Amino acid sequence: MEKGKRDYYAHCLILPYPIQGHINPMLQFAKRLRHRRIKITLAVTKFLFGTMQEFPDFVSIETISDGFDEGGRAQAGSFEEYFETFSRVGAETLMELLEKLKNLDCAVDCIIFDPFLSWGFDVAKKSGLLGALFFTQSCAVDNIYYHVYKGELKLPLSDDEIIIPGLPPLEPKDTPSVIYIPGSHPTALKMLVNQVEHLGEADWTFVNSFYELEQEVIDSMAKFSLLKTIGPTIPSMYIDKQLQDDKEYGLSIFKPNTDACKKWLEEREPCSVIYVSFGSLYEVGPEQMEELAKGLKASNKYFLWVVRASEESKLPKNYAEESSEKGLIVSWCPQLEVLAHDALGCFITHCGWNSTLEALSLGVPMVAMPCWTDQSTNAKFVNDVWKTGIRTRPDEKGIVRDTEIVRCLDLVMDKEEGKEIRTNAIKWKKMAREAVDKGGSSDTNIDEFASALMNPSI
Ligand code: UDP
Repeated sequence: MEKGKRDYYAHCLILPYPIQGHINPMLQFAKRLRHRRIKITLAVTKFLFGTMQEFPDFVSIETISDGFDEGGRAQAGSFEEYFETFSRVGAETLMELLEKLKNLDCAVDCIIFDPFLSWGFDVAKKSGLLGALFFTQSCAVDNIYYHVYKGELKLPLSDDEIIIPGLPPLEPKDTPSVIYIPGSHPTALKMLVNQVEHLGEADWTFVNSFYELEQEVIDSMAKFSLLKTIGPTIPSMYIDKQLQDDKEYGLSIFKPNTDACKKWLEEREPCSVIYVSFGSLYEVGPEQMEELAKGLKASNKYFLWVVRASEESKLPKNYAEESSEKGLIVSWCPQLEVLAHDALGCFITHCGWNSTLEALSLGVPMVAMPCWTDQSTNAKFVNDVWKTGIRTRPDEKGIVRDTEIVRCLDLVMDKEEGKEIRTNAIKWKKMAREAVDKGGSSDTNIDEFASALMNPSI
């Protein structure tokens, strides 16, 4: 970096929790700020830095420490230990980084922090900087956590219908799993609920969503916090194939089998392929894996299935070879390229928020198989509110059987009853694009933030 030479109006430091589903949307937001001549520094843990497979060229990357430089989360004895150490060591090393950047004559103006790392806000305030919250989950989910945080939604839940302003009536199973399954993950529950700690006091609150998608909840939450939707944070080239300015996607923790996926998809008819992925974290159990394998085979359709290396052993013996005429199994894929491909007909998804938003923004109907955390709430909205997919019904053991998978696939991809879902998928794709296009709701919010950074006195 050349000392004293500025080609930017302001400098933001992005602080993501080091998992794929948080880094992707924060980086894409960063890219939109960079286009508005805001300098971006991405602060990642030393461990994550060492595992990165791709490096985005529009940000400067700097490291902080979570206290576990050799192995990250896996090195810590427990999630509690990881979280507690990260809060302490992360805050100290972030302070050092801010000091270093100041001495290099590129002081930071604003910290955009992941609410999993809410100490980012304390560091910002101690350093006299702006602190901007960036929610990587939906507004609906944030609203549920807010009501738990405020004690307005009491835990454990009863069987009664749950009424929260701005949301449709919810059954317990529609809330995040840490809420409806008592004691399932106390530390995660605390972390997730505490995400909303700085709602209302942060200088800016961004959400990876768009106004038209969550209008009711955003309007309702405005009573305690002004949410600025800036999503979907999907590179423009996927939303509009004419745009080629956006080549590099970001920072991948896993290495995608890009060529194999592309070649295979090119050989398929439009709307003929089922894409299956459960994201980057959840480990699908062996029984569920077997039902999925049977269901995909019984559907007699083409499928592209992401089975991470850690899960491969759960596939039925010789499954990949025996189903190779119909299916391609990869350990990681370029998901956006896959979802944007004409061959895609349906996405069997765990309903992680990024995957949900990506499918919705690229017009792909969903078969929702939520597994944990906020996925149940996302699946509820996919099925009942946006009506762009169907939520699978698990049996009493919590397993989605092969016959249920086939029923859902037939409905979403072929049956007359599923036509509304397919039509809605196209409708939401259009609305998502409008939100990020020039003058759209998300684009306007980003402009507003960039202008405020450029003119701090206004
Ligand atoms: N993803 C990907 N390739 C894959 C599977 C997932 O690039 O083979 C990306 C996907 O596009 C999304 C992220 O990983 O941006 C997963 O985030 P999500 O919130 O859906 O799920 P999580 O991993 O947090 O459970």
